[in-house]
Amino acid sequence: MKRLLQLILLVAAATIPMLAQQQPRFRVLAFYSEKVEHDHVDFAHDAIRFYRAAGEQDHFTFATTTNWEDMNAAKLADYDLVVWLNDFPHTPAQRSAFEQYMEHGGGWLGFHIAAYNDRGTKWPWYVSFLGGGVFYGNNWPPLPATLIVDDPSHPAMQHVPKSFVSPANEWYNWKPSPRENKDVKVLLTLAPSNYPIGMKDVIKGGDLPVTWTNTRYRMLYTNIGHGDRIFTSDVQNRMLEDMILWVGPQKTPK
Ligand code: ZN
Repeated sequence: MKRLLQLILLVAAATIPMLAQQQPRFRVLAFYSEKVEHDHVDFAHDAIRFYRAAGEQDHFTFATTTNWEDMNAAKLADYDLVVWLNDFPHTPAQRSAFEQYMEHGGGWLGFHIAAYNDRGTKWPWYVSFLGGGVFYGNNWPPLPATLIVDDPSHPAMQHVPKSFVSPANEWYNWKPSPRENKDVKVLLTLAPSNYPIGMKDVIKGGDLPVTWTNTRYRMLYTNIGHGDRIFTSDVQNRMLEDMILWVGPQKTPK
């Protein structure tokens, strides 16, 4: 009997660390839409491939859905992080579920058009969540741009140089700039040397934060996310991986 007990303890000692290793560091649910602007669908498909591969290496799960009705309390309770790749919730029930999730410690990573809002959006909580900026304009066509890192010590920025060229993207302008909000920490900014940027639609100047966090929430937004060129830069890829590793692992209260 004593030997059996010893055997059980030995097996347990060997198995428990293995089980611990197999636990994902965090669980992601990524929402996207197939029936939106073609370039935004391309980005979503590329991002899913990229983050699935990153998840295998960095030990997080990356589930995806095109059904925005999955934005409900029961479903979100299983995930530490919600990602919006190319759209945002449009019904009051989906929006309310997301608000509750974020107000209770849920995580969010949003790309590009996920933060789009104008007079027609009619979701004041979301504008405040993003830091107050309303979509004001964009360049066209998509173009590469030099970006400046605002805080090189931030974990999401730790592996990129202070300035680098980001592949072709459609860059959004916001009014007011989210930087004016004291709760917002800007991590990445379009370098003034890019101006004027665009041909058909031109951004001539101004403060253009590209990536930021509203420190009142566990969230990170980046304007990067238009078209099929986004994941062509090793430098930027590392940053996009670091971004999800920073915002993802914190615990979500159930
Ligand atoms: Zn776009």
